[in-house]
Amino acid sequence: MTALEGRVGEPRPKYTRSNIKGLWEKPSVLNNVETWANVPLIINNGADWFTEYGTDTSKGTKIFSLVGKITNTGLVEVPMGTTLRDIIFTIGGGIPGGRKFKAVQTGGPSGGCIPEDMLDLQVGFDELTKVGSMMGSGGMIVMDEDTCMVDVARYFIAFLTDESCGKCLPCREGLRQMLKILTNITQGKGKEGDIELLEALSETAKEAALCALGKSAPNPFLSTLQYFREEYEAHIHDKRCPALSCKELISYYIDPTQCKACMMCARKCPADAIDSAKNRVHIIDQDKCTKCGTCFEVCPPRFGAVTKLSGEPVPPPVSEEDRIIRKSK
Ligand code: SF4
Ligand code: SF4
Ligand code: SF4
Repeated sequence: MTALEGRVGEPRPKYTRSNIKGLWEKPSVLNNVETWANVPLIINNGADWFTEYGTDTSKGTKIFSLVGKITNTGLVEVPMGTTLRDIIFTIGGGIPGGRKFKAVQTGGPSGGCIPEDMLDLQVGFDELTKVGSMMGSGGMIVMDEDTCMVDVARYFIAFLTDESCGKCLPCREGLRQMLKILTNITQGKGKEGDIELLEALSETAKEAALCALGKSAPNPFLSTLQYFREEYEAHIHDKRCPALSCKELISYYIDPTQCKACMMCARKCPADAIDSAKNRVHIIDQDKCTKCGTCFEVCPPRFGAVTKLSGEPVPPPVSEEDRIIRKSK
């Protein structure tokens, strides 16, 4: 609206809503396309028809963009009040590959992550806000058991740090510091007091940021801390990533009892880090390994010889004699 008036569009405190004083200081209706799309239907069919759908506080239907670790991705339109479980498992077809559901992030980058024990939550504006998330843009990102929730928070805070326009300090500097601390935690450099510092920065941004971006930006951190605090503590205190996801906190290891010397991993390793020979158990040179994960992906599932370790030390290499794979094996 500021641009339509010929001025530079920039964030400002909004004490008066635009439907009271907007374009040219006149009442102006500013809504997104999804809302406008409902208007002709309501005019044609009547308000009673529209309010037949939904809950007491959230009327009608809502379109969600269902993505992430889910079988059926795409846009889904459901009546308000549909449970997360129905959206994810009945409509979305659940998690592919037999993996376990871990969380769903709703509302776009500054939404929150909702854990498994809240799958029966009925979606609605108030319901999502109450559990630390929001309806926002209608994004719904499904995460499985291999997702690290600390890294999820780091990822969204990184996105929001980029998006910050820089006008006010709590958002510009606060997010930058939050990103630095979260990155350190995912790299095994977290220290005592980090969680408390992140909480303080979040509180300041929520209270003092100028616009909604800064005020809602701490949500990804706050919700993952609320529901997955043990993951933060494992990263900081034990230097361990429970989801075996943070690169700096894991090692790849070939189990000598499972390796069949098929040579697949050695051929694909981009760092030439796998000591391979015909009929010999393969061994990863931990000094050369860049933790790219290729060997883990290419080792045939029937062997499943490559494993990820986090926190525990990598066992020493087996002796040359024990590396020989005999026919009976
Ligand atoms: S909260 Fe962030 S995006 Fe909003 S005005 Fe402040 S710096 Fe800019
Ligand atoms: S993780 Fe990557 S670099 Fe390391 S051994 Fe496997 S393929 Fe090679
Ligand atoms: S792909 Fe698996 S079974 Fe084949 S050599 Fe590598 S670790 Fe052994």
